[in-house]
Amino acid sequence: MKLADRVNKIQPSPTLAIDAKAKALKAQGVDVIGFGAGEPDFDTPANIREAGKKAIDAGFTRYMPVGGADDLKDAIIAKMKRDHNLEYTRDEISVACGAKHTLYNISQALVQEGDEVIIPAPYWVSYPDQVVLAGGTPVFIETGEETAFKITPAQLENAITANTKALILNSPCNPTGTSYSEAELKALGEVCLKHNFLIISDDIYERLIYDGMKFANIVQVVPELKSRTVVVNGVSKTYAMTGWRIGYACGPKELMAAMTKMQSQSTSNATSIAQKASVEALNGSQDAVAAMCVEFEKRRSYIVERLNAMPGVSCFRSTGAFYVFPNFSCAYGKTTPAGTVINNSTDFAAYLLEEAKVALVPGVAFGADKYARLSYAISMESITKGMDRIEEAIKNLK
Ligand SMILES: *Cc1c(COP(=O)(O)O)cnc(C)c1O
Repeated sequence: MKLADRVNKIQPSPTLAIDAKAKALKAQGVDVIGFGAGEPDFDTPANIREAGKKAIDAGFTRYMPVGGADDLKDAIIAKMKRDHNLEYTRDEISVACGAKHTLYNISQALVQEGDEVIIPAPYWVSYPDQVVLAGGTPVFIETGEETAFKITPAQLENAITANTKALILNSPCNPTGTSYSEAELKALGEVCLKHNFLIISDDIYERLIYDGMKFANIVQVVPELKSRTVVVNGVSKTYAMTGWRIGYACGPKELMAAMTKMQSQSTSNATSIAQKASVEALNGSQDAVAAMCVEFEKRRSYIVERLNAMPGVSCFRSTGAFYVFPNFSCAYGKTTPAGTVINNSTDFAAYLLEEAKVALVPGVAFGADKYARLSYAISMESITKGMDRIEEAIKNLK
């Protein structure tokens, strides 16, 4: 069959692929420790599950407005005011089937041939492919552990051209776990003010932030940017609701209307029942979030310490999300007990999966081949076991 060219322009999500491979091995009875997952290991809190069940019984099972139900939009508006002191109206909100879909709608509504979108690297895997699918060109700004994986105002200034259409910021960041401070965002915001492009702020890990850091997004810090910033968020990570598929955008109404128009010819509304559950997630008790955050912070501290204690490995102490992004390049050029030479992050991940039965995502997937991503959204017991196995596997290299 001759498929459309666009299919070959992108990669299947590598993180989902690793996760699927680890799950398949587990299903065969192999004792795999999976550090690949990109989702919380907690259940959706009971009050939210209840709201979903009630929505079914109350008959919220029909088509809804494409861009989101009014009660969910109002819950989002209240959340933006409460948590960020930002004011939005209903026509400045757009609800989609997850934050990934929201970001997809943004690139479809905004980006075309000739447009450049600036993406700090290491980046979340879907950003570049979504830009490419829309006909645009991703422009990467490289960062490393020595700068805590953050871009500087000078780097941003250098990356901007007459074709720059948007900048994507993601703090706390997947895959590095880095978070920008208010001062850092202010400095970047000042560069943005001198130019004219859209800022896409992916705030999906906003509530998972550690070491006493306070979350802020760029609009909170530089309010003059509000008319050309779109804040993206969702319920997946904060409320352990990855399967419910609800994400949203807050931004200029012209863009929200365009995104809704695009969505009207693809998915139509996000699932009605999940929207009702999301109203409860945003308006209801936030206790479960706080408890989850405490547990993640504990695991983060442990895993960073273990990785840094391994000879040759260095691991940036992440301050948010549920990932660490250690530098494993000490293993490159070495030979496995089976006689294969490890040349890159893909080889290293394959070695760990085959020999140590540990799954992690090679850094190359995020544009950083010296590193690998480990998610600590698994039990402390599994983390401990997995760390022991990685340590042993590195020792066995010659
Ligand atoms: C998980 C994730 C998303 C998408 O989440 P949804 O489940 O689609 O809401 C978006 N951005 C980043 C950085 C993520 O890690």
